[in-house]
Amino acid sequence: MHQFVTALQSKLLKFQIDMFRGIKLLLPILLTIIIHSGYAQTPLPSPDLKSAGLQSPEQFLGYKLGTRFTRHADILRYLDYLLAQAPDRMKLQNYGTTYEGRPLMLATISAPANLNQLEEIRTNNLKRIGLLTGQPTASKPVIAWLSYNVHGNEAVSSEAVLQVLYDLLDVNNAKTQQWLQKTVVLIDPCVNPDGRERYVQWYGQVAAAGSNANPIAREHQEPWPGGRPNHYLFDLNRDLAWQTQKETQHRIAVYNQWMPHLHADFHEMSPEASYYFSPAAKPFHEDITPWQREFQNIIGDNNRKYFDANRWLYFTRETYDLFYPSYGDTWPTFNGAIAMTYEQGGSGRAGLTYTRTSGDTLTLTQRIAHHHTASLATLEAVADRSEKVVQEFQKYYQRNQTNPPGTYQTYVLKAKNEEAKIRSLTTYLDRQQIQYGFAANTNTLMAFNYANGKTEGAKIEKNDLVISLRQPKATLIKVLFEPASKLEDSLTYDITSWAIPYAYGLQAYAIKGKVAQTTAKPATITQTNTVPSTDKPYAYVARWNSLQDLQFLSELLNHNINIRYSEKAFASEEQQYAPGTLIITRAGNEQTGDKFDALIKTAAEKAGVQITPTRTGFVSSGADFGSSSVRYLKKPKVAILAGSGISSTGFGEIWHFFEQQIHFPVTVLDAQTLGRVSWSDLDVLILPGGYYGDILPELILNQVKDWVRNGGKLIALESATGFLAGKKDFALVSKKNTDSVDIKKNPYKLLKPYGESERSAISEQVQGSIYRVTLDNTHPLAYGYGTTYFALIQNAINYQFMTNGWNVGVLKKDTYASGFVGAQVRKKLQDTLILGHQQLGQGDIVYMADNPLFRAFWHNGKLLFGNAVFMVGQ
Ligand SMILES: [Zn+2]
Repeated sequence: MHQFVTALQSKLLKFQIDMFRGIKLLLPILLTIIIHSGYAQTPLPSPDLKSAGLQSPEQFLGYKLGTRFTRHADILRYLDYLLAQAPDRMKLQNYGTTYEGRPLMLATISAPANLNQLEEIRTNNLKRIGLLTGQPTASKPVIAWLSYNVHGNEAVSSEAVLQVLYDLLDVNNAKTQQWLQKTVVLIDPCVNPDGRERYVQWYGQVAAAGSNANPIAREHQEPWPGGRPNHYLFDLNRDLAWQTQKETQHRIAVYNQWMPHLHADFHEMSPEASYYFSPAAKPFHEDITPWQREFQNIIGDNNRKYFDANRWLYFTRETYDLFYPSYGDTWPTFNGAIAMTYEQGGSGRAGLTYTRTSGDTLTLTQRIAHHHTASLATLEAVADRSEKVVQEFQKYYQRNQTNPPGTYQTYVLKAKNEEAKIRSLTTYLDRQQIQYGFAANTNTLMAFNYANGKTEGAKIEKNDLVISLRQPKATLIKVLFEPASKLEDSLTYDITSWAIPYAYGLQAYAIKGKVAQTTAKPATITQTNTVPSTDKPYAYVARWNSLQDLQFLSELLNHNINIRYSEKAFASEEQQYAPGTLIITRAGNEQTGDKFDALIKTAAEKAGVQITPTRTGFVSSGADFGSSSVRYLKKPKVAILAGSGISSTGFGEIWHFFEQQIHFPVTVLDAQTLGRVSWSDLDVLILPGGYYGDILPELILNQVKDWVRNGGKLIALESATGFLAGKKDFALVSKKNTDSVDIKKNPYKLLKPYGESERSAISEQVQGSIYRVTLDNTHPLAYGYGTTYFALIQNAINYQFMTNGWNVGVLKKDTYASGFVGAQVRKKLQDTLILGHQQLGQGDIVYMADNPLFRAFWHNGKLLFGNAVFMVGQ
């Protein structure tokens, strides 16, 4: 797409370049004096005055910025144009593509002298912080990275950046040219083009001629799912640390090649709000350094200067905190950068014009002016302190390597029988440039045990994964691995707990001392396919305990291989196997002919799982392979509900799971068309969280129940379980609300100070906290797990144990592990059902009250969800 546009554009460019070459020579000096000396007072000079050769966005696009939204293809055209005009001051890199095939671009802009030795500047930086070996040379420009439009419908960002690009490349702009002498600026003009185009295309279709500022007008009512997220409806500004989305993976790969000293992330918030810049709100994560905190103020002061001069409204120190590590400000912060978020009042509701409740009209032009000014103020602040910023960055990395933060020096993750999970974890660590090794010998050490929260003697075995904190990325490791993150203030608006060992479902220890390690990967980790050569084995056996096992199953089902699984534990040829183990017998797969073995081996290799060939169907304990308790696993026809009323992120996580993680076909149904579904075509229907009142009225709910009775399987997640709870024929029931009893006992409970309303509300909240769920792993829903599972709980789940179903996962007493939970919720979460299974007629209903697929980073929940889809009710 991009190439095509470029070719077309080059013809146009020749003409435009020629046209302006004449005046280019005459005007620069005069214009510099007239226009750019006035920057401090008027941060956004009218673009049409700037015509000394380089075309402004207005001249190039043919319309004034702010009078319409610029299409992504036109943003790309302008980038190409700028590159053609200023090849000595700009580089342009296509660093990846989105799920919908749009190019992701990074512009690098600096003074010609810097651009000439760009590679040296880049590698010098990495050498100075220990991520590259060798001696750095003297050159030390500061590296600043600006990101725009990570939320697609916060569409002002990619407009403002066009003016920023122009200002940086305009040789007549004395200020920017001075900054660029000591600054390398990296600009990502559109982090989320799929989301942005979803918004821009829609707005173009529905906006009134000349726009309608009335908030009730259609152009201010963005339809589901809105342009904020990416293709799979993930919030890319929650994905920096987990890197589950293509856009983030590409972006982090290039970020890590640079390791910028500053990262600024441009956003929008409610159109009723004014403008937000640093300093950020509390809580700050405790590992944010004094210098990083100080720079929050420096950057705030520099913005304030311009916002005050223009009499623009703004606020600081509220709402936008620095705690959850996966934002565009926090993740760079834990990578040593100074980083900040900018928020303009606007977003997908604001359109081109919007009448606020105060009566004044917010325009896109104003929004552009604010983000443009903040961008330049940021660059000015960092350029003015370039030496100090580079020096502090270097100090940060030196401290990480010699005196890392926190109580623990080493994290150890048990590797035995967890090879697939360890492999996926090491891939994740590689992406983050986190170094690791493997335990050199077996030893018993005092350690914090993640499984029970106790410090006790822990057996570290040879080949366990070892991560020492004495390395460049120590702070990031500490933040991602620490068992519990210290919260200085509970008013934060994202999850409060995320420790990687829980997220991966790995047994782990945190140790105060060192652990002897080798860097050589053990064969069990590197070799993904170690199938002994056996001539025509009777069957292949595959263990069932990871996402990779699900990928393997999916691959086999896609090749129509007949698969079975054992309901009981068994022993075969001196190996012990747990319930859920897959058994692929030659018998029953005659249709594959002589390709049987190759198909199985290729699938195992692709998924990275180990399979064991057997010579017999006889087992020394458990049920023989021909037994009826070795169940046939039918390939299900699966559908997910999407559309208005459904949680877009909840749906997106399920969609991404099927298409991108296990590669299994799934049909997405629009919730509004459920009444017209041909039920006999469906085996599994998945209800993501959402508001189901309008989607499942009695008539349609009855159809769903009839379908279940005839053998269908309904899987309800999060708030969908709440909708079904208490309804006729559904076994799930909410616990009685005891609040009124408490108030009868103590009526003073009602006397809450108005000024503390926000604070008293949080006693009713659980903010992404980790709990230990007690599992019945003899039930298919919990196959592959031990007797406990660490869940990330985000709702005050409050269900009775079922009397007419299987209580597969429950929260008992004292099962809290980490994160913030309000006092009221703590009580509710005790003795509640989390995972349940009910049989109804010939069919099944699975209740999953938490979200096992949260942001695709809660890897530990993926097998549970896979069990619900593939194992339960077979
Ligand atoms: Zn945003």
